[in-house]
Amino acid sequence: MLFRILSRDRFRTLVETIMETTEVVAPKKVGVRSDGEPIHQFLPVADFDEMDLAHETTEHSAKTYFLPYRENLSTYAFSDDDWQQEVHYRIQPRAMVGLHACDINALLRLDKVFVRDHFPSPYYVSRRRNTLIIGIDHEPCEGGFCRSLGTDTVTRGFDLYLTDLGDRYFVAVGSDHGFDLLNQVGVAEISDRDTADYLEERKRIAGLFTTEVAVQNLPNLLDIEFESEVWKTWGAKCLGCGSCAMVCPTCYCYGTTERVSMDFSSGSKEKHLYACTVVDFAEVAGGHNFRPDRSTRLKYRYYHQHRGFVEAHDEPKCVGCNRCGRACLTGINPLDVIHDLQAEDEA
Ligand code: SF4
Ligand code: SF4
Repeated sequence: MLFRILSRDRFRTLVETIMETTEVVAPKKVGVRSDGEPIHQFLPVADFDEMDLAHETTEHSAKTYFLPYRENLSTYAFSDDDWQQEVHYRIQPRAMVGLHACDINALLRLDKVFVRDHFPSPYYVSRRRNTLIIGIDHEPCEGGFCRSLGTDTVTRGFDLYLTDLGDRYFVAVGSDHGFDLLNQVGVAEISDRDTADYLEERKRIAGLFTTEVAVQNLPNLLDIEFESEVWKTWGAKCLGCGSCAMVCPTCYCYGTTERVSMDFSSGSKEKHLYACTVVDFAEVAGGHNFRPDRSTRLKYRYYHQHRGFVEAHDEPKCVGCNRCGRACLTGINPLDVIHDLQAEDEA
């Protein structure tokens, strides 16, 4: 990994240079919560000063720029004995600035499914390949347990990754594209003092984490506690609204809808993100529902995050951002659910 030093002024120049040719998406303050804390979302920005890189977290994750809530997969038209199909992949370049380590680790999880698994998604691949990623270090966010999952740091999956050293940024270079951009605006080699300041800043950030959860034995614990009352207790609170999966940076389940015109001459296929906690998620033809009750559906979500994905991809799907906990109207959050399971196991 190459490291460089970028002054604050040159970082501004770098982003403004990108903006000349490319859509830039970054954390933007969009409102204020009832407790006075700001609300941020990843949104297109037209000016450097619209970005708020000091944001704690965004309510929705960066996922939706790679897996949109709705996406038209194809349109088709029949004529005589033939048919034409049109498929549109997003190829316009985009830059995403201000992703945190957990956001980038979440994209690496999605890559395992949509780039490297048996059936890669060309829709996802084209968005991923055409998106420049500039990440930034940050202090822990409320309820985030990324450190317990090892996702508070990241070493790949980005073009540039910045650590704020006050008057300058310590930059990890993750791609040729990132390297070229830095050279366009001018950077300095790192000195011993820069390295010492960087390590000190990383130590300071690590020391701020107070939220911890033991995840090492979670897949086994989930198997042991499959019939636990914990699922009934938390399931009774669940509204089945699906908000947790929508804001989650790694939830990717989806459904497809085919619409055909009344005269059967044309049609389209649309993909939409879906949530395993929603009542009809496991409903099949004939009306049978494999998970008709809320507690089973909630349990399934935790099993996919912390057991099923581990079996398939050697690591949990969850990156510990706690967006699901923040979004849940009834206060269901992974820390409390996991702690209750662990307490049940020790009882
Ligand atoms: S856990 Fe919370 S956010 Fe998720 S479906 Fe249930 S009520 Fe909605
Ligand atoms: S399950 Fe919750 S804490 Fe884990 S990655 Fe998804 S939103 Fe974040």
